[in-house]
Amino acid sequence: MSTTTPPAKEATESSLKIVEDATCTFCGCVCDDITLKVEENRIVEAKRACVLGKAWFLNHQGHEGPSCLIEGKPAPVEKGIRRAAEILVQARYPVIYGLSDTTCEAQRVAVSIADWIGGTVDTTTSVCHGPSGMAFQDVGEVTCTLGEVRHRGDLIIFWGSNPAESHPRHFTRYSLMPKGMFVPRGRKDRTCVVVDVRRTKSAKAADLFIQIKPGGDFEALWTLRALARGFRPDPQDVLEQTGVELSVWEDLMERMKQARFGVIFFGMGLTMTRGKHLNSEALLALTRDMNRHTRFVCKPNRGHGNVTGADNVVAWRTGFPFGVNLSRGYPRFNPGEYTTTDLLARGEADAAMIVASDPMANFSQRAREHLARIPYIALDPQETPTTRGATVAFHTAVYGINVPGTVYRMDDVPIRLRPALDSPHPSDLEVLQGIEHQVRQLLGKRKGAEKKE
Ligand code: SF4
Repeated sequence: MSTTTPPAKEATESSLKIVEDATCTFCGCVCDDITLKVEENRIVEAKRACVLGKAWFLNHQGHEGPSCLIEGKPAPVEKGIRRAAEILVQARYPVIYGLSDTTCEAQRVAVSIADWIGGTVDTTTSVCHGPSGMAFQDVGEVTCTLGEVRHRGDLIIFWGSNPAESHPRHFTRYSLMPKGMFVPRGRKDRTCVVVDVRRTKSAKAADLFIQIKPGGDFEALWTLRALARGFRPDPQDVLEQTGVELSVWEDLMERMKQARFGVIFFGMGLTMTRGKHLNSEALLALTRDMNRHTRFVCKPNRGHGNVTGADNVVAWRTGFPFGVNLSRGYPRFNPGEYTTTDLLARGEADAAMIVASDPMANFSQRAREHLARIPYIALDPQETPTTRGATVAFHTAVYGINVPGTVYRMDDVPIRLRPALDSPHPSDLEVLQGIEHQVRQLLGKRKGAEKKE
């Protein structure tokens, strides 16, 4: 994959710079139509960005401290790279984790390092859409791009997902409002349904809101599957299991059958509640069933800017999307066994490298306590609880703002980044390439010494 950046359309007048078609990497929508105005090496305007995107671009100040700290003390980056490589090579059961907020180029090198050291590579998918990753392998995914949703989607269902707050331009750019080739009147040509356990902000945008019983997703989806296949479940059972009258599900099924192009976007309200991957499997199977009646697709609404890229890169390199162990020289996939939070909570990992993630702020207490006991390396543009406790911490440049590269939008479409500002810090890619180089040298030396013996 090339790391050269396509030329951004820039107009530079003394200290003023305009960057057209910049890409926001704050959420999985990865909007690539942002116009940035840069003055005095600072972004002062982000046209078309939503409130979250504006905060991402305008509050970017970059880390002011040194690029590298070893045991809390400033050190040259080269020294940090050597120390990081030593930690990883000396470990018996190292894990590399994070990766969803960096470029595909950096993710690729991280997987190579895991392969060299015979470690585990895992991404933040394991704590968000991991169950969907497992379900894709069992059921498959009937899917499409967001461009097709924009041009064709006439029934849009959001299940356990609240894009009005998590992906503010989802409705306007892709799913509800835009006028498309086969939906020329935009919102007027679409029906929006929200299924959730509470009335979210997204529910206000819906034509039909179905409030199900918490933990009732699996039963609700199987009720729809039964209806899609012409069976009528017992109304009393359905009400007890889903908290919703059967007639409501029958009405929804009728709308789904009448749609010309139906889409289900699903979120962590489905994947991280009771049932987990079985919920995702039920939704993927329902989508497949609906294709007996009409065209229907589904798509997870992904959170981090390049978490979809992380799934893709890890899958290209190992055959599996996350939680992959390479200690036997070939990939093994077993969520729960090779996922980072579990490896740490059981006290198994003896070293770690965390890339662009903050497990010290969101893992379980047992996992955090173990991480604090072992040597670990952290790469992050900001100072975080994870970088503060790291044996070696690198403060890196921000992807999309300082660093070029490739990211994947939530619909698996790769998008190039057009950075606006220089950074005094190295990129994740540069640091990881340095670590990989050192790891290979150390392993070569070790092999040479073993031969002599
Ligand atoms: S929707 Fe997401 S990617 Fe688009 S501008 Fe807002 S935060 Fe950025």
